[in-house]
Amino acid sequence: MFTDTHCHLAAPPLIDTLTATIATAQQFGVSGCLVPATQLSDWQSVLNLAQHDFVRQIAIGIHPWFALHHTDFADKLADILSQNPHIWVGEIGLDALIDVPMESQLSVFKTQILLAQHFHRPIIVHNVRSTAAIVGAVKQAKFTHGGIVHAFSGSLEEAKLLINLGFKIGIGSLLLNPNAKKVHRAAAELPLSALLLETDSPYMLRNAVNMPANVAKIAQILANVRNLSLENLAAALERNLTELMIS
Ligand SMILES: [Zn+2]
Repeated sequence: MFTDTHCHLAAPPLIDTLTATIATAQQFGVSGCLVPATQLSDWQSVLNLAQHDFVRQIAIGIHPWFALHHTDFADKLADILSQNPHIWVGEIGLDALIDVPMESQLSVFKTQILLAQHFHRPIIVHNVRSTAAIVGAVKQAKFTHGGIVHAFSGSLEEAKLLINLGFKIGIGSLLLNPNAKKVHRAAAELPLSALLLETDSPYMLRNAVNMPANVAKIAQILANVRNLSLENLAAALERNLTELMIS
């Protein structure tokens, strides 16, 4: 059984087809997911999803795409974290390809890393061509609770910098594209103990709604690349995820 470690289950159309989405995932051997929030307006629906059996973990945070509209969220996030000892912080991070000034992104990102450190929570990180800045911010905040850098698209060297800081690397839907050479290389060569699987549903597929069930396809590709049985891969990935979970 596999877990989709990055699924926006609170986003349409997944939230509108929740029962069917989950039933299909389970048919394909995907037994659970992690759900990150992206902005204040989805925090409550993500919090509600935490009650669902299929949802193993939620994370609350402000995604860099929405950094400009969110200067005043820190007290509310701190309240949620203090009242919910198992909630992670996410999805947070930096994105060098968007039209949001890096200064605003960094300020929102740093505030959230400091809160995660204060409350001892892992983080779920969105990283688009920003590894150096993310590593810098994590070190500056003396952040030590790890988490997942999701939808990995960088080089092996970048992945190793992140792994050394305690992060797992989320390998996802990019692996469905045979031409995504860097991701295939990372999937083949990074330590198995650092990997997790994800879809980033409903996003990442050009002409279709991505679904958590697609973790099964990604798992099959990773199993082939690593020459592992699906059972052994599932067991290894489950250990990796359990390492991060707050007991
Ligand atoms: Zn995401």
